[in-house]
Amino acid sequence: MFDLYLVDYHLHTSLSGHAEGDMEEYVETAIRKGLKEIGFCDHAPLPEKFPFPNKESLSIPLSKFPSYVKKVLDLRKAYPEIKIKLGCEIDYIPNYIEETLTLVKNFPFDYLMLSLHFLGKYPIDHPHFQEVWEKLGKDKVFQSYFETLGDAISLGEFDVLAHPDLPKKFGYQPSFPLLPFYKKISSLLKNNEMVVEVNTAGLRKPVGEIYPSLSFLQILKENQVPITFGSDAHSPKEVGWKIGEAYEWAKSAGYSEFAIWERRGYSLHPIGCVFKKIVS
Ligand SMILES: [Zn+2]
Ligand SMILES: [Zn+2]
Repeated sequence: MFDLYLVDYHLHTSLSGHAEGDMEEYVETAIRKGLKEIGFCDHAPLPEKFPFPNKESLSIPLSKFPSYVKKVLDLRKAYPEIKIKLGCEIDYIPNYIEETLTLVKNFPFDYLMLSLHFLGKYPIDHPHFQEVWEKLGKDKVFQSYFETLGDAISLGEFDVLAHPDLPKKFGYQPSFPLLPFYKKISSLLKNNEMVVEVNTAGLRKPVGEIYPSLSFLQILKENQVPITFGSDAHSPKEVGWKIGEAYEWAKSAGYSEFAIWERRGYSLHPIGCVFKKIVS
């Protein structure tokens, strides 16, 4: 039953102020659910001069970042029965990104995950900050998101793209087709040797769909962009959440392999045969 190589590369921790549970509980849940490999991938500190109030509610404070790294490395030793990788999720914030990239180079990360939550001063995916949707309107949010994401990918500094079509989270859609953006992003990812995360968190949100959509994933496959898997767990009970469905989603887009990370490099592992409801 557990010969399938199940991974979850997107686990948060309470250090970033909006997730819950001890890191040990995340690991023990993963072991219990039969996962072979997990990656802690908490929110890297938001840049010091970025004018967002209450940063500690969205990211690990700078002062606690070294202890986050140390804790993951300690857990790796304490639980040899599961592979534990060190990652972090980096918000792309134009004009401030160098600060974050300089910081993460001091630590032995297995992968750096790029995400775009902020357009201007506010996150597009936070229920308490809907200003950006009201101010810009749906079309402009989608357009700016994909254009800014293209800039971030073109930096060539990241390994994995998190939740690639995040603006769909609340079920909003633009008035124009997204296909040209999917194609542009896919070719940029390919050119910058990046991998895309198939992320099950969308199934817990109003949109009720895995990130990325199947049509986006098919274009990524056509462009030979590799994938990996994550639940975006913000509590121990979300570890490995519906990862089996993500494997099926990937297979239905034509994928047969996924990326396993180590020290900023990856190898490909077969997806194999998914027995539904192994993990839920
Ligand atoms: Zn989070
Ligand atoms: Zn995210």
